[in-house]
Amino acid sequence: MLQRQRLQFGFYVVEQTGREPFNRAMLFNVGFLEAMKDKAWDCMIFHDVDHIPENDLNYYGCRDMPRHYSVLLDKYYYALPYEEFFGGVSGLKVDHIHRMNGFANGFWGWGGEDDDMWNRVHNAGYSVSRPPGDIGSYTSIPHHHHGEVQFLGRYALLRKSKERQKVDGLNNLYYSPLVVRRPLYTNITVDLSRDSAPLQNYD
Ligand code: BGC
Repeated sequence: MLQRQRLQFGFYVVEQTGREPFNRAMLFNVGFLEAMKDKAWDCMIFHDVDHIPENDLNYYGCRDMPRHYSVLLDKYYYALPYEEFFGGVSGLKVDHIHRMNGFANGFWGWGGEDDDMWNRVHNAGYSVSRPPGDIGSYTSIPHHHHGEVQFLGRYALLRKSKERQKVDGLNNLYYSPLVVRRPLYTNITVDLSRDSAPLQNYD
């Protein structure tokens, strides 16, 4: 699909090790920083691995505004669950990502990190664009494992999105990745801990 869209692209698969709950947002931050070491990419698509686009017209380039690509998911009966939904597949220009300080690192477990990114986008003065009609339709691959536990603290963190945006993101992230370059993709394995993103001068 990406070749038919005449895009220049690279795939970065980012996997988490260690004992902490899954941290999707921090993995995206790591993938972003590692990808930028390879090439001066101008656009980054943050993609759940289990989401398969159904429509080739869903163009995976960046627009002027941050974009939410996965509008209609089969698991949500092909309806947008709520207007502020930014999960699944989203994409932003690289300079926007820098200006927004990337994703929040504080969301350990399932949920909330995508809602926080929606807040970051709007706090930075941007708005979200979406593909029209059924172009943003996706199938999700069924899981054969138990889902990650919900992060119940997400609502409290979301109330502080704006304040945390300055201090939690790309600018407080410390990690040591294992990077394996393969012909068709780069695999990044990273041990994430609470110490990976210390918050200074913040209660
Ligand atoms: C969570 C989001 C998730 C959405 C849809 C919300 O409650 O905070 O992370 O994407 O539900 O499942």
